[in-house]
Amino acid sequence: MDPDVGALGQLIDRAHAILILTGAGISTASGIPDFRGPNGIWKTERPVHFDQFLASEKHRRAYWDQKVRAATVFQDAKPNRVHDACVELEQVGKVEVIVTQNIDGLHSDAGTSTDRLVEIHGTAREAACLSCDIRTPIEVHIDSYLRTDNVPICNECGGLVKPATISFGQSLDPVSLDRAQQSAERCDLVVALGSTLGVYPAARIPYAPTSRGVPYAIVNKGETEHDGWPTLTLRIDGDVTLVFPEAVQAALAG
Ligand SMILES: [Zn+2]
Repeated sequence: MDPDVGALGQLIDRAHAILILTGAGISTASGIPDFRGPNGIWKTERPVHFDQFLASEKHRRAYWDQKVRAATVFQDAKPNRVHDACVELEQVGKVEVIVTQNIDGLHSDAGTSTDRLVEIHGTAREAACLSCDIRTPIEVHIDSYLRTDNVPICNECGGLVKPATISFGQSLDPVSLDRAQQSAERCDLVVALGSTLGVYPAARIPYAPTSRGVPYAIVNKGETEHDGWPTLTLRIDGDVTLVFPEAVQAALAG
């Protein structure tokens, strides 16, 4: 075994409350493109900002058109070995929380419990009414948009309905952010997987635990914004879908 993978296995073996921070790199093996990456849609398509969505029907339509195209990608995606390894760690009681920047719902599909999961950028599986907050499955709205060509509105209150993902320019859900921060206070290991750690405030989550001496490991192919972190314990530049499951197996065997 690669010594670094062995070292990650040892960190996991010793930990009892791991905070796992996951990013786009863990879902590319499931067929989900990295929206912000070199071939991501935001290189060719202009994102609709939250204030634009609120301001005009034209932008709401552009936004829903993008969601319709993305929905087919999400529908076909299945969890991979990284999602499964996260579930195995939860089953042996080692997971404090999984904070994911991904909106694909694959941690849930793999079997991660709702109370151990913070989808910090929301989920593409649901839509939320911006007036009454009611949550509904996204398919209902996509079907109705394709059928009627009318931008979805709330059946309960007539408010604007938007996919329950955090848009550019939209604040994070304070409850989700608070849960992530509470867990950051309790964890005894931080492992960041498949993230360039360049999107805030998600990338700020490791700050508090590492400043009180909690070990911090990063697995990502390519550079991350935390590579120069003064107290970084372990940095593995490699394929997260190989490295992380192998390290978890080593920890569970050890
Ligand atoms: Zn409503």
